[in-house]
Amino acid sequence: MKKLILVLFFPTLLFAQEKTATVAPKQTGKYDTNKFSQMYDLLATPNMFRTASGAPGPAYYQQQADYKIDIELDDKNSRLSGSEIVTYYNNSPDTLEYLWVQLDQNQAAKNSQTPLAESQRMDQVLPVGNFANKFLKEELERGFNIEFVKDAKGNPLSYTINQTMMRINLVSPMKPGEKFSFAIKWWYNINNYRVEGGRSGYELFEKDGNKLYVIAQFYPRMAVYNDVEGWQNMQFWGTGEFTLPFGNFDVNITVPADHIMEATGELTNRSEVFTPEQVKRYELAKKTYDKPVVIVTQAEAEQAEKGFSNKKKTWKFSAKNVRDFGISTSRKFILDAMAVKLSEKTVMAVSIYPKEANPFWGETATRTVAHTLKSYSAHTFDYPYPKAVSVSAEDQGMEYPMICWNYGRPDEKGFVSDRIKYGMLGVIIHEVGHNFFPMIVNSDERQWSWMDEGLNTFLEYLTETSFDPNFPATRGPAKNIVPYMKGNQKYLEPIMSNSENIYQFGANAYGKPATGLNILRETIMGRELFDHAFKTYANRWKFKHPTPEDFFRTMEDASAVDLDWFWRGWFYSTDYTDIGVKTVKQYYVSTEASKETQAMFNRRGRKISDGEPMLYLVAEDAPDFKPELKKAMDVNSVQALSDYVNKNYTAEEKNALKSPKYFYEVEFEKPGGLIMPIIVELQFEDGTSETQKFPAQIWRRNNDTAKRVFATEKKVVKIQVDPKLETADIDVENNYWPKAETVSKFDTLEKK
Ligand SMILES: [Zn+2]
Repeated sequence: MKKLILVLFFPTLLFAQEKTATVAPKQTGKYDTNKFSQMYDLLATPNMFRTASGAPGPAYYQQQADYKIDIELDDKNSRLSGSEIVTYYNNSPDTLEYLWVQLDQNQAAKNSQTPLAESQRMDQVLPVGNFANKFLKEELERGFNIEFVKDAKGNPLSYTINQTMMRINLVSPMKPGEKFSFAIKWWYNINNYRVEGGRSGYELFEKDGNKLYVIAQFYPRMAVYNDVEGWQNMQFWGTGEFTLPFGNFDVNITVPADHIMEATGELTNRSEVFTPEQVKRYELAKKTYDKPVVIVTQAEAEQAEKGFSNKKKTWKFSAKNVRDFGISTSRKFILDAMAVKLSEKTVMAVSIYPKEANPFWGETATRTVAHTLKSYSAHTFDYPYPKAVSVSAEDQGMEYPMICWNYGRPDEKGFVSDRIKYGMLGVIIHEVGHNFFPMIVNSDERQWSWMDEGLNTFLEYLTETSFDPNFPATRGPAKNIVPYMKGNQKYLEPIMSNSENIYQFGANAYGKPATGLNILRETIMGRELFDHAFKTYANRWKFKHPTPEDFFRTMEDASAVDLDWFWRGWFYSTDYTDIGVKTVKQYYVSTEASKETQAMFNRRGRKISDGEPMLYLVAEDAPDFKPELKKAMDVNSVQALSDYVNKNYTAEEKNALKSPKYFYEVEFEKPGGLIMPIIVELQFEDGTSETQKFPAQIWRRNNDTAKRVFATEKKVVKIQVDPKLETADIDVENNYWPKAETVSKFDTLEKK
């Protein structure tokens, strides 16, 4: 069987063009700079702790820190005092000469370096109060006051405090496999977070004089020691969050007797702190799956907030395998809860809130917690803790294991605007979602904000849109990240930047990584491959400490999709996507060509021999073009073609023949540095359309332009790149052919 040769007629440009495409200078040395090169130059070398597949290796280890803590809240003076016994397990192969303990409260202390490291400028107009606070007032007493650090026998241990980090000097080094217990006693003044800021503190209700406490970073916490950083003892400057080992906690919390509380872990003395009626309601909630059951009622909360009891009560919580501990307590709390059925277990969704949050919170908060647990579990693993609590705390959005603080309350008349409504639903989903990343998939927040914020924001987006398809989700859709990505390069950093060094934190650590994952799922990998790989990452690293490499490698390992080009561009650079249509040429089928044309093809080795039937594709600007060629092709009217078909194809093949009538060559351009698939929509004159997608690898040998040929049955009237705005293309003006109408009208007017 002979092959029919369709020869492109493109006399002058065809070969020249591809050679003159601009190519970035190549790097000499070990690695080339092709955008598809594997990332040997960027990733840490795999080892016995972390494998090349992205899974924990055979020598993987992690340290453990168990805590027994007693704390007491002095509500009147907003002061917290406590003592703890920490038992630290050295599971590493290394001998430790000292231990590092985190004193995060010191970030607000008088000697904190945080405010000094900020550039300042003079405010030329100030309200008197602000002027007084800024220039006259003495700074508040904040930060930890350490009363003692002792070993298990009660002998004082020497220690050194450097800002937010305390080094405990060991008398004899801790060998691999050893454990060491020590005790610390401390106190600190709790901040009014709505005035002073902070991720914890209290909110004052001026009308009734009550405080609502959200307590965290309240105890000296072990730093992480691992195979990647050694001791992660980077200071807490305020932006980069927390890096903590797992452990078991027993915490006794003494507060005024009329407080209601929630905290990390299971309450082990419920009958001592709840009324018998409240215990009964709690038992009912454990069996109620369809709606929240009110356990502490608004009437009970309103009664309590008038009390200011002088008596005390101690609440006892026990938590297994958590990396941190949070507490929220107030006289003002209403409490409701419902049971949530996951695939293999039942857990509790809980909310606590003051009457000021009702009726909105009573109606929506706990149901949102329940939906979040189901949605996140479906994308990762069944939520392993017994409960998840959402606390109503104005101006807050902050996460701890099993408990989180969330803003969003109605106004004084009970009205909730859409902004508040979706803001509050979004923040509950986000903060409850943080249980998965980083509380369980325990990444290093001090170093990489994106590993928890980005992954969490991505699942937040999926959870919001499954909750309500019209949810006004801001972070996730590709088009929403465009204003950031096309911004001034001076204010952009790669996602792979330390949390403290980022200009536009929200877009860099939340929006861009979440959008990148969404693009991988919807446009590059497809949902099935992506979801399996993402789930593999979550399951490999739950209750462990992953690094970026572990994530990047697992996503490829579990999917067989090479994504090095994507990580390189989206995570390690500030490049942006810009792909457009450069030229569109329509070709017409001809059976004849001039002697010159034939000679040219012969010179290029096409071997046009006498008598062999040839077809020529002729563009309007070609020398051989004749007006009568300008028509749709019909196989039957091209004698040589119909002869060929009749001679070579079976009846069955003939019945199945396609009937292309129009031929186009489209040249795409890529002014943007990022690699993306080319998504092309062809719109036909009858109003129908067709979308074709060319993988990112189309750019692997030419980073500037790419050409594709389209043979269609219907006449193409419009071509559009990325019609659904799914690649974060920063300039859509070049996405169309013909160019946007406004331009052509203007041109026409100009010509007239
Ligand atoms: Zn977050």
